[in-house]
Amino acid sequence: MTQKVLLHACCAVCSAYTIKFLQNEGYKPVVYFYNPNIYPQEEHQIRLNELIEYSKKENFKLIIEQYSPSDFENISIGLEQEPEKGKRCAKCFELRLNKTAQKAKELNIEHFTTTLTISPHKTSKQIFEAGKSAADKFNLKFLSYDFKKNDGFKLTQQIAHKNNMYKQTYCGCKYSIRLTNKPLA
Ligand code: SF4
Repeated sequence: MTQKVLLHACCAVCSAYTIKFLQNEGYKPVVYFYNPNIYPQEEHQIRLNELIEYSKKENFKLIIEQYSPSDFENISIGLEQEPEKGKRCAKCFELRLNKTAQKAKELNIEHFTTTLTISPHKTSKQIFEAGKSAADKFNLKFLSYDFKKNDGFKLTQQIAHKNNMYKQTYCGCKYSIRLTNKPLA
């Protein structure tokens, strides 16, 4: 039987290659959307809608957590001025991966991981630390894949382009909103 993995997903673009990668490794990904960091709610809904569409196209199971921005607000107090890749991001990863581990435990899925490492704008070391700490808390296994390796970011962009996916222009929280139109994913 194929082993399940709970895949925390930040958006459809980052999920595209990640899902295929895990399938090629012999896993069956169950995708989990929990991103209270995304601001404003409309943006959260746009990213979620895109992932729902993709789940229908690719036929994978998607579990959606309710939008709860106060979860993120609570952990970012005092860290508002931190740059991207700083302490606020470490807390943001901890928040999302702790919740993912909790959900994996509930679902009796032994392995979990996240799409977050596919982005060249994030530090994989911070994500791995958050994932391993969450795994220890719940006695689970975190898969430390650095999805950006081997052209992962480029490949996910190609799948997104082919599927005409929405590409965000900032990471997610209100502090990461920049005056740019360049897609970040
Ligand atoms: S910049 Fe991105 S990773 Fe960092 S706190 Fe904001 S949403 Fe989270």
